[in-house]
Amino acid sequence: NPASLVQVMMHLGEMVTATQTVSDEILQLLGAELNYEIQIVSPEDEDRELLESFNIEYGEDEGDDELLVARPPVVTVMGHVDHGKTKLLDAIRSTNMVAKEAGGITQHIGAYQVSTEVDGVERKITFMDTPGHEAFTAMRARGAQATDIVVLVVAADDGVKPQTTEAIDHAKAAGAPIVVAVNKIDKEGADPQRVRAQLTEYGLVAEEYGGDVQFVDISALQRLGLDRLLESIVLTADAELDLRANPDQDAQGLAIEAHLDRGRGSVATVLVQRGTLRVGESIVCGDAYGRVRAMLDEKGEQVDEAPPSRPVLVLGLTNVPSAGDNFLVVKDDRVARQIAQQREARERFAQQARTSRRVSLEDWESRLKEGEREELLLIIKGDVSGSVEALEDALLKIDVGDEVNIRVIGRGVGAITQNDINLAAGDPGAVIIGFNVRPEGKNQELADRMGVDIRYYSVIYQAIEEVEAALKGMLKPEY
Ligand code: GDP
Repeated sequence: NPASLVQVMMHLGEMVTATQTVSDEILQLLGAELNYEIQIVSPEDEDRELLESFNIEYGEDEGDDELLVARPPVVTVMGHVDHGKTKLLDAIRSTNMVAKEAGGITQHIGAYQVSTEVDGVERKITFMDTPGHEAFTAMRARGAQATDIVVLVVAADDGVKPQTTEAIDHAKAAGAPIVVAVNKIDKEGADPQRVRAQLTEYGLVAEEYGGDVQFVDISALQRLGLDRLLESIVLTADAELDLRANPDQDAQGLAIEAHLDRGRGSVATVLVQRGTLRVGESIVCGDAYGRVRAMLDEKGEQVDEAPPSRPVLVLGLTNVPSAGDNFLVVKDDRVARQIAQQREARERFAQQARTSRRVSLEDWESRLKEGEREELLLIIKGDVSGSVEALEDALLKIDVGDEVNIRVIGRGVGAITQNDINLAAGDPGAVIIGFNVRPEGKNQELADRMGVDIRYYSVIYQAIEEVEAALKGMLKPEY
């Protein structure tokens, strides 16, 4: 239990509390002391192992080199706020993605594909629809990389700004080549050459200055230079990346966006990264699974199959995956369900570990030491109103000095309800005192899962004693 682990740590010369996060090295030390072998596994490794137990390899194209076929680049637009990222995405979408039917409505599904002609050949490009580096880094934090090329938007009248350089750092960290879109050239005071000069300081040297980065002057507002920008993206992909994938295998990729739709149920946009996704296939996506009931593209049109780099909206999943979750086709529904359930169980376990240290009476002492709290919040539930009042009176009378105090944020007669637990789990958290009552139904389980401490008493003085002890622990040492 945590208390004895803390003791062992003290013997090892590590002063820690039971609620503290410790480094991997300290964990290893603790393991060695207790004769346990500690294996530290990243969530991605853990997932890979899970998939391997089903004989599935995720993340690599199957087969030899000759099975690989060219795929379109996937592009994320980044840059400083107000430099025109959204405008650019909208301009490209409406100019190059001609809806097949008159009046066809384009939909925001998280990504879209356009085509452009380069050297007489039709080439496709996939754009991620959420500009900025937050979505990009959120994906990468989960070990997922969707972006091949970053389009860096810099307003010609404003030049390089903090988020411009942040975007450059993110692109470099991801190993994604940059194409610079010098925007707002229609504006008075626009100075595209100054942008080029500024960016040389960050290692982005324009081709016309002898470097290898494509700079394109554009106006997202007036839709100038967009075709040249698309061409530059294709040329950069051809020159610097070898974008190929095996289209003839079970599809794999990433969830980009998902939500619950009232009529259609779970709606998830996935980016196919390898293989070809087809209607009717069994897929698992994060902890969601199901059979692909239908696929829609960014024009809202049904598609039967999605090759590499194609984003599609998938209908038919049991629940809503998260952005950055991987998706893969598996051989049947049973396998999909098993993988999803194991992931779900794992996530629940991790969640529990994260939250179960949030609110407990023992916690107050260490939290106070961290300067976090000087007030103990309580919710009092009792069997009759008289006992609730008596208990509340007695608890509020506990006096251990001015520095800490008790505040009762909820009280009532009857069993401990889901509502009580939700209230206690809020921020700041509270401890629930149950006097001659029990939790309703499965509420104890719920409380455990949410890390809510419920204390049961049938004698008032016991309740007072324990709360007083906790409060004393909360007292700051006097100097
Ligand atoms: P974001 O924050 O980078 O997504 O920037 P927005 O796309 O929202 O654009 C910010 C503002 O700049 C909006 O008022 C746009 O209309 C304007 N804007 C974007 N592109 C251009 C352009 O090429 N020329 C001019 N004059 N204004 C633009």
